[in-house]
Amino acid sequence: MRKIVVANWKMNGSRSLIEAYKSTCATFEAAAVEVVVCPPFPLLADARQSLNQQLRVGAQDCSAHTDGARTGDVSAALLAEVGAQYCIIGHSERRAGHTETSELISLKQRQLIAKDIRPILCVGETDVERREDRWKKVLNAQLEAAFQSGTGPSLVAYEPVWAIGTGLIPTSEIIVETISYIRKQLGAKTGAQSSLRVLYGGSADETSAARLVSLDGVSGLLVGGASLDARRFGAMISSV
Ligand code: PGA
Repeated sequence: MRKIVVANWKMNGSRSLIEAYKSTCATFEAAAVEVVVCPPFPLLADARQSLNQQLRVGAQDCSAHTDGARTGDVSAALLAEVGAQYCIIGHSERRAGHTETSELISLKQRQLIAKDIRPILCVGETDVERREDRWKKVLNAQLEAAFQSGTGPSLVAYEPVWAIGTGLIPTSEIIVETISYIRKQLGAKTGAQSSLRVLYGGSADETSAARLVSLDGVSGLLVGGASLDARRFGAMISSV
């Protein structure tokens, strides 16, 4: 299966970053990886229009509801209308900063699946949970909740909270062991693991990308900071 690299621009980016991506698109076209760019909501339609041929476009969140009086929320239907093919859900910045529960995230997953948008479910433990050896329990609870909406996730990003934006990347042993655990837990529930893709995310950049994607069980990367520079991101894509 092709590796997948997802750019999570978070609350960054601009029309000029879309243009910069466009000019490095030759790299993306030639790449043997699937590239997904997730800009903030207002740039989704632009990104889809400008980059349509070369890469896929995703959102960073969606509402758990279909419509109604929910000021500031964006529904899966609207995301589909502007061409989003993927959507990140459960990012630790939303779990912590917006107190999103796994149950709420599972409702978002249901909304996305109903609109044929592929959810990218983020899971990950904090540094304390890792140090106290509670990471399995934490990940398991986050994964379990995803089954409340039916089928369970087919695209998961393992993002240890302590690796996000810190420059710290877990040892290869930790990444391999944790991703293998995630695969085992999901496999036990669904019985079929072949279509499951598990990404790694957290401080991945152009110097670490090739090593990270070559690790056992790693299907690709979710990239924050290093995706905000089209040249650096392009270098990552060419290296994997
Ligand atoms: P980072 O962010 O690559 O800047 O660590 C990754 C993420 O939060 O998805």
